[in-house]
Amino acid sequence: MRTHNLGYPRIGSHRELKKVCEQYWSGKAGHKDVLQVGRDIRQENWMLQKEAGIALIPSNDFSCYDQVLDHSFMLGAIPQRYNTVLLNNDKAEIDLYFAMARGYQKDGLDLGAMEMTKWFDTNYHYIVPEFTRDQQFSLFSTKVIDEFYEARELGIITKPVLIGPVSYLLLGKEKEPGFSRLELLKNLLPVYEQVLFRLIALGAEWIQFDEPFLCTDLDAETCEAFEYAYERLRRAAPKASIILATYFESLGTNTSLACRLPVEVLHIDLVRAPEQLEEVIENLPAEKILSMGLVDGRNIWKNEYDKSLQLIDKAVKARGSEKVWIAPSCSLLHTPCDLDHEPENGNLPSDLKPWMAFAKQKLSEVADLAMLSGEADKTTLTRLETNRQAAQTRLNSSFIHKTDVKARVANITVNADSRKSPFAQRRLKQQERLKLPPFPTTTIGSFPQTPEVRRWRALLKSEKLSSGEYEQLIKAEIEKSIRWQEETGIDVLVHGEFERNDMVEYFGEQLEGFAFTNNGWVQSYGSRCVKPPVIYGDVSRKEPMTVAWTAFAQSLTSRFVKGMLTGPVTMLQWSFVRNDQPRSETCMQIALAIRDEVADLEKAGIAVIQIDEPALREGLPLQKAQSKLYLDWAVRSFRIAASAVADHTQIHTHMCYAEFNDIIHSIAEMDADVITIETSRSQMELLDAFANFNYPNEIGPGVYDIHSPRIPARREMVSLLRKAQAVIPAAQLWVNPDCGLKTRGWEETQNALTEMVAAARELRQI
Ligand code: GLN
Ligand code: ZN
Repeated sequence: MRTHNLGYPRIGSHRELKKVCEQYWSGKAGHKDVLQVGRDIRQENWMLQKEAGIALIPSNDFSCYDQVLDHSFMLGAIPQRYNTVLLNNDKAEIDLYFAMARGYQKDGLDLGAMEMTKWFDTNYHYIVPEFTRDQQFSLFSTKVIDEFYEARELGIITKPVLIGPVSYLLLGKEKEPGFSRLELLKNLLPVYEQVLFRLIALGAEWIQFDEPFLCTDLDAETCEAFEYAYERLRRAAPKASIILATYFESLGTNTSLACRLPVEVLHIDLVRAPEQLEEVIENLPAEKILSMGLVDGRNIWKNEYDKSLQLIDKAVKARGSEKVWIAPSCSLLHTPCDLDHEPENGNLPSDLKPWMAFAKQKLSEVADLAMLSGEADKTTLTRLETNRQAAQTRLNSSFIHKTDVKARVANITVNADSRKSPFAQRRLKQQERLKLPPFPTTTIGSFPQTPEVRRWRALLKSEKLSSGEYEQLIKAEIEKSIRWQEETGIDVLVHGEFERNDMVEYFGEQLEGFAFTNNGWVQSYGSRCVKPPVIYGDVSRKEPMTVAWTAFAQSLTSRFVKGMLTGPVTMLQWSFVRNDQPRSETCMQIALAIRDEVADLEKAGIAVIQIDEPALREGLPLQKAQSKLYLDWAVRSFRIAASAVADHTQIHTHMCYAEFNDIIHSIAEMDADVITIETSRSQMELLDAFANFNYPNEIGPGVYDIHSPRIPARREMVSLLRKAQAVIPAAQLWVNPDCGLKTRGWEETQNALTEMVAAARELRQI
């Protein structure tokens, strides 16, 4: 049975790409160093896949920054404003490329970066292509061809991977009104054809087109675009062998469309959507090959061979083994490189390792499955045995399964997800207790994480600072920030989150059921990599996690200090989660842990508690049909976390994104007393969703963008607040920045917040 891979992590097994790019950007490395590291990583990845026994190895899955940007570069979709970078520059191409990715401030030029957004429902971010009416495309970068050639020189005939033309257009955005980007397909296809011809001429046998949009809800125009594009490519290159790759969901209502498109191989994601196998088998013409995405490209757990073999068996019985291929579910980009790089006595408990597989291990799993579904040799059969044992121990491990935690979730009472009284009544009690002025001011939680603060944490970790000394330093920082907030006249204070490394990691480290890796890096965007926590077992709270810091801050002041927590959905969303129980179950366990923390904060006298849920929206399923189910349990988890308190305790939540229209119902159902949101960049436009809905609770629309060091002018904030006031009753409005201030410096923060308080005071006078 044939094996292939859809893509391999390209950051390098020791993040070599990150390091060299950052050195290049800071002028400490030359552009030739970047190119050389790229070549080394590609070679290492290709060889590794070959050794693992993968038959068809991808190329063009490497990228110096982002694969979508690579496609814009290939297709000459370069916004005009960047052309100036080419003029006075001898390393023009790479600088133009990075200028689009990160902006360019040099030689008298000042160009912003292109927009970035999330790649489907992953935590990977891509650079959004920009389109104009009648835009023309031409082959600008030959990277895909060069890398095929590069691998061929090493003796490997790779399978070039391209984002398909329809998905490429859909990933982008119209930059002017009056046209739809799909209209550009006819201008775009000739370049795709040209690439196809050149790859075939060089000896490419298979070419993969990724069309993940086939797993989303499509309108008739988009379905037609798919038909048109693939028929045209087929006509242009009748001999090309094309693999159409879909992933992240089932094909759903697009099954017959995807099965009909004139390609040789259809790849489907059977990890996310195993239930689609039967329908695809029924619809896929007999001469076509079915590529089965069986090994999870999005998570770090070992494949369960017996389950996969059952699916393979089903497909083989229906189609014959020549018509079935085996692969990971999607590109392995979303998994860390190599489990063997986790040190012996490192962060990852040794009990966990036998259950896990990173990218490199997943390659062997693909190869094993192919062997096992044919005539397996003895060593492969031994591996099957080991695999079975791992699955068995995981099923029964007391390390994972805690009966008390499961029982607590099972016994949640019906009204555990509701506050004692409706908002209108709670509000009166909160007003009586808090006595805040109109347009109360607050911040989102974090204050600058200065290099000094981070150094203290590093020193604590390396035991060069005792925990007592560390505590004193952080306490002093908290005290400074409280004093400063009092002087500035902020109404609801925060302690500043100085003790936190990251809003998920900080809590994960204190909860049972979470583990951490030493080297489990995954690309988030460009050179930025994250090390997501691993939720492996039933989650519970050992002891209070934030109460001491918050209570200390509160003890310093007569104003109210807001307790800061990360919500259950966000913790789930930004971690590798268990695959042995539904996400909703895990989320509920986290919610109960947070609920206890909320209750303890209240007991310690904290009157205002914020539960951040910045990731609530990104958990939305790709298909509308499943949204309701998700939103139901996500909202319920939040409510469980928030509902243990008395009416006079004020619950805040915070979200930082700009699309609420389609989920405003659910946001309202969360029933937080106050929600703070990001609005300044959209000039308050998104408040319309809240206004149209008649959002009943209080809202703090962000009045300035925290992503830039720029100090907002008081009159800008006043005018934004007036805009807000035009659609939301003044009595419901709070005044705050868009998000936390941890990435900012103190000086800008102080200046900006001083202006913000002045803006609020100005509004109070009218
Ligand atoms: N409380 C967090 C902070 O202020 C919220 C961060 C976020 O929304 N991503 O940093
Ligand atoms: Zn935020």
